Amino acid sequence: MLPEPLWTRVYSLFFQLLWGNRLNLIKREVTYRTRRQGGLCMVNPVVFLVNTFLKINVANLWKERAPPWVYSCRGWFRPFFQEWETGGRVKDLRTPHGHLPAYATPVLKVIRRWGLGMWEIRTLSRKLLDRRVLFARFQKPLALRDCPSRDLGVGLGLLNSIRIPLKFWDLAWRCFHGKLCVRDNLKCRSSEERGCPREECGGLLESMDHFLLQCPFNTEVYNRVGVSIHWPGLAGLSYAEWAYGAFRGLGGRDRCTLFLVSLVVRYHTWNARCLVSTQRKILPVDEVVRNILGDLVKVRSLEYERLGTGRASLLWRGFSFSVP
Ligand SMILES: [Zn+2]
Repeated sequence: MLPEPLWTRVYSLFFQLLWGNRLNLIKREVTYRTRRQGGLCMVNPVVFLVNTFLKINVANLWKERAPPWVYSCRGWFRPFFQEWETGGRVKDLRTPHGHLPAYATPVLKVIRRWGLGMWEIRTLSRKLLDRRVLFARFQKPLALRDCPSRDLGVGLGLLNSIRIPLKFWDLAWRCFHGKLCVRDNLKCRSSEERGCPREECGGLLESMDHFLLQCPFNTEVYNRVGVSIHWPGLAGLSYAEWAYGAFRGLGGRDRCTLFLVSLVVRYHTWNARCLVSTQRKILPVDEVVRNILGDLVKVRSLEYERLGTGRASLLWRGFSFSVP
């Protein structure tokens, strides 16, 4: 059983490994949600370790065919669980003979705090037990900007579409949550450091809006790509259209394809932006546009291979482009 003072340190180390730094731009409690619910189906290290302990040690106490060590422990350990056995829930940590011994108290406390019944610990798999505890005690609702429930449903569907290549998924997910590492999201920095790294923006606050909708380099890319692929609407997309794929007019095109195209565009404008901030390297608009079209051609031809010409041409209707 993990001593509680260690919990904070375990969380911190675990999430540092996930993000690569100490910034938790997206709440830990959101990452515990399943992918269908907008999370990462992330393991909570404490829940994982505690439930493993409960499954191996506590659940075994009631098994008819238990490991040999259980037979010797049953006699002295089980009486402490009587309250829990009869009441279904742990109500009290006192026993008729005084206080519980130190080795039993933390186990019963955690069972009480997480509201676990004996039946659950005995019969559910560890994984299911984890999901149950996470859902009831650790998960938090999504905090999305300008996202009515109909856009949320559409956005989650697009985010989980099998058509999204793995290479782009991380960016799609962060963008969905409005948490790209734009400088406005890195709240710990001073205000002078919150400006867009591109010189032409003259230190304007780099918010999600700035990156997606206003940065002149990006809007130039949108205009050029929009013309090249015959989707002029690309240059005028709103925040909800970029982030959740809540496109107002589809123009006869497939919504998921529009989302996919917008994702390839974001991927390259974001990479170009990061080259400026990390290496002071400025890619010309031409090169970024060429990279976008190159990736679009690749993504589309893979879909033609995977889905066959009939289905793929239906999904890519309304677009026409080639590698420049
Ligand atoms: Zn800018």
